[in-house]
Amino acid sequence: MRYSIMISAGLDSTTLWYDLIKQGKKPRGIYINAGQASHDNQRYLSRTLSLRLDLALDVVEANRVFEGLTQPPHSRVAEVAETMLGCGDSCASLTIASILAATGGSEVLFTGYTAEDKDRLPKLGRMLELVGEVVAINTGNTAFRVEAPYINTTKADIVQKAQSLEVPLELTWSCLWSGEFQCGECLRCKERRAAFSISRIKDPTQYRKR
Ligand SMILES: [Zn+2]
Repeated sequence: MRYSIMISAGLDSTTLWYDLIKQGKKPRGIYINAGQASHDNQRYLSRTLSLRLDLALDVVEANRVFEGLTQPPHSRVAEVAETMLGCGDSCASLTIASILAATGGSEVLFTGYTAEDKDRLPKLGRMLELVGEVVAINTGNTAFRVEAPYINTTKADIVQKAQSLEVPLELTWSCLWSGEFQCGECLRCKERRAAFSISRIKDPTQYRKR
């Protein structure tokens, strides 16, 4: 059976990648460049993780697609698209990854959505089901589906899981921005810090000094 996973080099998708490998699955990674400001770091780290795991990584340069979905100036394109599409980390990225996974013969596309994502987007589970169904019909890969194994797991629990799976947390990126260090102050950095703090696991992240 073939599997794929949407990778962003964040805490959730990276931990899930390691978790699935421990279960004997060897999912191919799919990284989508949606034009987000943190893209350079996320792509580099996704590639680093795939090399470390010795698993393939497909990089989809979809930033022009997201530019087409927003009005100029296309600053922080992904975040604008997120608001516009009203489905969190964007059903556009999910659909692109699903098409790639299904046409490549995968039966499942794994995604790292968490309990916090479900709280933010109550219809997330239904959306994953529907995108999977549409792509299955459209590609003729009738077995295809989208799964989110962590949809009822909090970020703090994911950090604990990451530690037990020996995930290289220093290779994960949460910050909305690119640069040598994660800023420590944006929404995603705050979520990351809170997850480590709640789980009582030492945060190995070097945040930017003010
Ligand atoms: Zn940040």
